[in-house]
Amino acid sequence: MGVVGDVLSDGLGGLSHNVITGRIEDLVKWARSRSSWPASFGLACCAIEMMATGAAHYDISRFGMEVFRASPRQADIMIVAGRVSQKMAPVLRQVYDQMMEPKWVISMGVCASSGGMFNNYAIVQGVDQIVPVDVYAPGCPPTPETLIHAIETLHGLIESGEIMRRREVTGAGADVHVEEIPATSVPVLLGSS
Ligand code: SF4
Repeated sequence: MGVVGDVLSDGLGGLSHNVITGRIEDLVKWARSRSSWPASFGLACCAIEMMATGAAHYDISRFGMEVFRASPRQADIMIVAGRVSQKMAPVLRQVYDQMMEPKWVISMGVCASSGGMFNNYAIVQGVDQIVPVDVYAPGCPPTPETLIHAIETLHGLIESGEIMRRREVTGAGADVHVEEIPATSVPVLLGSS
């Protein structure tokens, strides 16, 4: 019976969502998740992988994210890519404060998440001491695949509303940890056809 059967048994709730029956709230969440522009915030070697993620081979424009914004006022996601020095911490917080709500943070790599191998006075031992982190991407450095996994996880949480629920519970970031994904792509050799 298909759609008719669904409507007969469940009423209007049986209709799968579309532009007519979808709730405005769901449409807003969907649009937000697919137009979240990252702030340009590369701090160390992890930023090279972040740049690779934005380049043609991985192409995050597929997720509506190709526009890395230099102005925090136009950015939605802060990807903290690399170790955060004590000197940089207040600058990072200022950039975060200048971003408009709703805004999200991905901690990319072990250095950003915990200080990594830099267990010393110069490096912040976890960027969650400075800003609320929503998703942690593990690795040194995380592969572009891992970063995309973190981005897709974040998008899913934005779309489901789960991220706001977790924030209300913890009073901080959503604190989601994703699995590391090893590099799977074959290297592209310059000059090869
Ligand atoms: S996690 Fe590794 S690649 Fe990333 S900033 Fe630290 S040392 Fe560099």
